[in-house]
Amino acid sequence: MLQRGRSFIQLPGPTNIPDRVLAAMHRPVVDFAGREFTRMTRGCLEDLKQVFQTRGEVFPYVALGHGMWEVVLDNLLALGDAVLVPDTGRFSASWCEMIRAQGIELVTTSPFYRESVDPAAVEEALRADRGHRIKAVLMVQVETSTGVLHDVAAVRRAIDAAGHPALLVVDAVASLATVDLPMDAWGVDAAITASQKGLMMPPGMGFVAVGPRARQAALANTAPRKYWDWGSRRGEESYMWFYGTPPLQMIWGLRAALDMLLEEGMPAVFARHARLAEAARRAVAHWSEAGALEFQALAPAARSNAVTAVRFTQGDPEAVRLHCRDELQVAFGGGLGPFQGHILRIGHMGDLNEPMLLGALAVLETGLRRLDVPHRPGGVTAAVEWLATQR
Ligand SMILES: *Cc1c(COP(=O)(O)O)cnc(C)c1O
Repeated sequence: MLQRGRSFIQLPGPTNIPDRVLAAMHRPVVDFAGREFTRMTRGCLEDLKQVFQTRGEVFPYVALGHGMWEVVLDNLLALGDAVLVPDTGRFSASWCEMIRAQGIELVTTSPFYRESVDPAAVEEALRADRGHRIKAVLMVQVETSTGVLHDVAAVRRAIDAAGHPALLVVDAVASLATVDLPMDAWGVDAAITASQKGLMMPPGMGFVAVGPRARQAALANTAPRKYWDWGSRRGEESYMWFYGTPPLQMIWGLRAALDMLLEEGMPAVFARHARLAEAARRAVAHWSEAGALEFQALAPAARSNAVTAVRFTQGDPEAVRLHCRDELQVAFGGGLGPFQGHILRIGHMGDLNEPMLLGALAVLETGLRRLDVPHRPGGVTAAVEWLATQR
């Protein structure tokens, strides 16, 4: 089909890359060992601490979020250790696959696919671990497959209430720079992210922020490792921070993305995500009144500002998604794993504004109408009415 104008990416990753980031990357290679490039790279790692809201260290990798999952396992755990992973959906499940493959013992909870993890389930699992074999609780803050926001601070309190020494590690791939994660204030020992979501960059870089307790645990961990090892990635040269050639263009892009985030200010970044997410939710709530659609996340507080997952009790979300993508030039997320065929996901993270979101919502309403999915017309107007109150 002939397509004109801009196609919209309304995926929960990868997200829109700002022109400013793309332009910053369009440069020939320089000698990365030069003083200027080294200084800029160090500056990026320093500024990332502001985004992670930590005084800990940030380690960069040329890797995906999947790589960051393995980074925390390799640095913090040894064969025979156990971890507790609350079952939140497709992404916690993928992390668990990696944990099992590495011979680490896995303790999990009952599923929390439509609500935030119950801190009591975490506390109970930790109390049952009298010998303290569980070395870490690994949780996903925004579970991108369900759109559910999980309460990191509540899980920290549950660990403390159980009197358990386990570290708290957070997958913030979908949540960093989209929803608040004050790492130090909430007692998070390590957090991971990837470049292609809230950081508005191409896929291909990963970051892990490490607090003092996790650093100590890594130092004490004798499990064999090298490439991912935080201990290998130190020194004066950016070559060592990457344990190999720094990805120059990505770092220029990162510099531009961090400038954009810090110019806007992290509180304003979170407020923008909250405003646009609420507009999407107003539309979904309105459409849902006809009885065929509902929020995957049951409680309003569990609906993340990064992605909204819409359950179809009638009609085919995949047909709507493909129609919107192939005929109307807006790409939404589909259902992953057990949610496939049941869910359509509206990503609203990263470099997004009102016209982009309203355009996408209007296309989704068009798709619902064309494919005869029962919905109350006027969801876009409901979003407009909400946005009109926000100035
Ligand atoms: C996207 C995502 C990942 C995976 O990131 P990749 O870079 O694709 O490996 C992991 N966790 C969450 C919560 C995500 O949203």
